[in-house]
Amino acid sequence: MSRPNIVFVMSDDHAAHAISAYGSRVNRTPHLDRLARDGVRCDATFCTNSICSPSRATILTGTYSHINGVDSIYSRFDHATRTFPSVLQEAGYRTALFGKWHLGETGESLPQDFDNWQIFPDQGEYHDPTMISPAGEEQVEGYATDIVTDLSLDWIDEQGEEPFCVLVHHKAPHRPWEPDAKHRDLYPAGSIPEPATLFDDFATRSRAVREATMTLADDLDIATDIKEPVPAELQGEENREARIRWVYQRYLRDYLQCVQSIDDNVGRLLDHLDQRGLTDNTIVVYTSDQGFFLGDHGWYDKRFIYDQSLQMPLMIRWPEHLPAGERCGEILTNVDFAATLLEACGLDADAELPQQQGRSFLPLLRGEADETWPRSMYYRYWEHDSEPHHVWSHYGVRTHRHKLVYFYNAGLGTDGSKDTRYPPEWELYDLEEDPEELRNLADSPEHAGIRAELEAELARLQEHYRDAPYVA
Ligand code: CA
Repeated sequence: MSRPNIVFVMSDDHAAHAISAYGSRVNRTPHLDRLARDGVRCDATFCTNSICSPSRATILTGTYSHINGVDSIYSRFDHATRTFPSVLQEAGYRTALFGKWHLGETGESLPQDFDNWQIFPDQGEYHDPTMISPAGEEQVEGYATDIVTDLSLDWIDEQGEEPFCVLVHHKAPHRPWEPDAKHRDLYPAGSIPEPATLFDDFATRSRAVREATMTLADDLDIATDIKEPVPAELQGEENREARIRWVYQRYLRDYLQCVQSIDDNVGRLLDHLDQRGLTDNTIVVYTSDQGFFLGDHGWYDKRFIYDQSLQMPLMIRWPEHLPAGERCGEILTNVDFAATLLEACGLDADAELPQQQGRSFLPLLRGEADETWPRSMYYRYWEHDSEPHHVWSHYGVRTHRHKLVYFYNAGLGTDGSKDTRYPPEWELYDLEEDPEELRNLADSPEHAGIRAELEAELARLQEHYRDAPYVA
């Protein structure tokens, strides 16, 4: 059997609910939908630390943030933990990475394990971006999403007999949302359906939720995010609801226009694989480093364990080995990606990546039932009260039915300083009764039993993944 190629497409902050294959109410993504139609759509894939750099380090290494050391966007990947591309390279694969890296752009934090790479410094720019490669720094003309695709297709065309793995890492649709000129007429302001929780008042929620500064009402940068001044009649607390509506339409318009370029370029990539006769034995993955709040709870951004931020879109197509049009409802995480891709290439992750903590979900993608598959996942957001969004550190557990969250109010593991302003707080949600996560049941007497079960599960997961609970 010939070994498969891998084309791993990852965008930045693309929420599943902005993909029509996932039932988006706000946009259409016909090319991404091809992957769901011709492959497997995973419906319960969760990010273990919902922010850019940590998710990227987790995907490369199959480890949690406390193992690979990239627990915040301020961390640099030190290459001490082995990555799945390095295993592939050693096994004879040709490897490349194009686009966003965001694991430290200087010195030893540049990409390793790739035969070719070209990356954006930091978040990168949308128009005529600066890029860094082994040859140095240059400005590349064009639109970032097109450029990342062009570089990837050109590199694929240079490949010979060896199997290849290319990571196609779009910077879009990361803030500030700067669409390509050709998409500027799509989803005009005023036309976009609003989410049910746009005016969430956080009535039963923790202090951490109320303190976060990521509201559409007050926290976007008017000049760079919204790009036109908020009208005078929408200013002030008494006009809050009208202002949220106005900002939402402009924010989501630009976000969805950026997504449309990704969709176009995924279509271009799939067409190219068809033309080159590579489709049948190439694994194509589409995912995003985490989800995003699209006005849900009145927010933009991510970081929190709540579902719109926690969920990663994940669609995988491999015509020779995976069914078409199937769904996988099991709980998967970004920790599992490395083990899964290595198994697909005939490699054993536990042997090749001694520190890795994931499980291959390849059998699940083939439709095989696995009674031993985990029914819960562990989450930990490490940054505490950092600029600009002031989301507080928390950990928690999500099962198919429930979510338990603990805001322990202390700094990053390394300094660990306790925040004494407020006491720690718990939240508990019944996702079947309350999928929007509006009713915190942590102190509900009738839910004391399930809370105790979830606290025990949280402790079990922390021990399993060798993380430690915060102790004041
Ligand atoms: Ca991101």
